[in-house]
Amino acid sequence: MVNQFDWQKGFGIDFDFSSGMSPQAETTRRYLSQMKGMYLEEEVRAEMCREKDPLVYEFYELGVPECGGDLAFGTTIVYPGKVNNEFYMTKGHFHTILDTAEVYWGLQGTGYMLMENMDGDVQIQLIEPGRAVYVPKGYAHRSINSGDTPLVMFFVFRGDAGHNYGTIEVKGYRKICLEENGKPVFVDNPRWK
Ligand code: MN
Repeated sequence: MVNQFDWQKGFGIDFDFSSGMSPQAETTRRYLSQMKGMYLEEEVRAEMCREKDPLVYEFYELGVPECGGDLAFGTTIVYPGKVNNEFYMTKGHFHTILDTAEVYWGLQGTGYMLMENMDGDVQIQLIEPGRAVYVPKGYAHRSINSGDTPLVMFFVFRGDAGHNYGTIEVKGYRKICLEENGKPVFVDNPRWK
């Protein structure tokens, strides 16, 4: 047993449909101060952190054994908000084992899964309650909250997949999601390297 969950004999855990929260585990939290350089308007982001460092998203890790036969699962909650006119989003990552996919299932709220692979192919999928999104192997993935309520998603992926945040931190994504005339639009990222 790696932690309080019995990954050998099985276990149950409650996730609230509306909040995504579980009384049985702690989330990992990402604040805006931890997303330096990831939004188009870096100065606006920095100023927002000085005033009140907002919580952008949180998710469950649960301590799955890093074993190919296990499955990591939990919920991710992306809060509503914007940096200037760019919607709150997760950092996004490739899996360390690039050849591993992931499924996200929308429980509450509205947003998008933004995906891109090493060849530069970009895929965008709507996330809303009842809609499941398949993130294919080889694609970095970032979820974006384009609504005004929390975006709550259930996810599951191979336990040993691992997370590579570094590539995205350095290069950024090719596309960013902005609010224009009250609607989400995807545009080329001028900061992409
Ligand atoms: Mn992933």
